[in-house]
Amino acid sequence: MRSLRGNDQSVVRALNKNAVLNFLHHEGPLSRANLKERSGLSGAAISAVVAELMDDGLVEEQEIGPSTGGRPPVMLRVNYAARAAVGIKLMERELAAVLVDLGGRVRGGVRLPLAEHTPELVARVASQATEQLLAASNLPHDRLAGIGMGLPGVIDSARGVCVRSAYLGWQDVPIAALLEARVGVPTFIDNDVNAFAAAERLFGHGKGAAHLAVVTVGRGIGAGLVLGGVAHRGRDGGAGELGHTVSEVGGRVCECGKRGCLEAYASEPALLARAKEAGVRVKDVQDLLMNVHDERVAAILHDGGTRVGVALANLVNLVNPELVVIGGEGVRLGDVFFEALRAALREHAFDGLARHLPVVVEPWGDDAWARGAASLAVSRVFDLEVSSDV
Ligand SMILES: [Zn+2]
Repeated sequence: MRSLRGNDQSVVRALNKNAVLNFLHHEGPLSRANLKERSGLSGAAISAVVAELMDDGLVEEQEIGPSTGGRPPVMLRVNYAARAAVGIKLMERELAAVLVDLGGRVRGGVRLPLAEHTPELVARVASQATEQLLAASNLPHDRLAGIGMGLPGVIDSARGVCVRSAYLGWQDVPIAALLEARVGVPTFIDNDVNAFAAAERLFGHGKGAAHLAVVTVGRGIGAGLVLGGVAHRGRDGGAGELGHTVSEVGGRVCECGKRGCLEAYASEPALLARAKEAGVRVKDVQDLLMNVHDERVAAILHDGGTRVGVALANLVNLVNPELVVIGGEGVRLGDVFFEALRAALREHAFDGLARHLPVVVEPWGDDAWARGAASLAVSRVFDLEVSSDV
């Protein structure tokens, strides 16, 4: 949430608007009387705020069904189609972009080739993708709430700077400003996993959750944490590096250069490498999963799942979440992996912390990372927007 500036009255007005929009998002449709009751605001304040939100197009009156006697109250709801956001994910040789509405529905997608990961080229291709998406959906520029980009590595989301990304070879790159200068809309960046966690909070299972752990398994392993209703990023934006917590002291060499990291055992590339070392002839992860009847493969998947489950139990013991969501390409790893994961979590969670703890494995699609990135911009619509010029 941004810091409060501007004069008191404008701050109060923005806070009220924010509160009403969020009540409607989480609990809507609601009548003006419901809103008055829920928010504690006066009827006059509610009327003024609702009128403003309706002028912005963000709130609409719901069509009323056939009357069953008496005058039914007018119900209000969020108009999720009022704005859209673009989400961007960088891959090895291409850039994926999606256009989503405020409800997280994907309205269009595009993939453009990306020959290299220089910041200038990324900004140029991202801006091309944005223009293509707007044109294809006939969406005027002023309906675009913003652009979100998810990046692997340590991200300073407040300054819009990629502090370090080994994958991209970037250090202190102000990518948000570069893209904003080209497209002319607010641009937000965050770590990939945090972006996926933001999407879960806005539209997914984590809607309204105050203590949430979102874990992704795939090329890497990461965690996005929401603690006390606030995304936890840590001092440097590096919180949630679950994949680099130690699974085996002095163990396998990790991509990060250290030894024994969880990722060196249980990421998809690690599982594949371990299978090859065990003498199984496999070329990719699909191939690996086809060979799950091979007891060497089953043992490696079981071990990988167990190690992630142990790491999750450690995480649960540290932060006591109300919900765990698992996503990422690795959700395809199947029953051997996930049953071992759940068993290890139950076994090692302290004193019932895992009892009645939902662990949801989210189905994963090609656009999931980009959709997560879009939610970085969508969440700004629901968050407080107060600046010095209001
Ligand atoms: Zn590591």
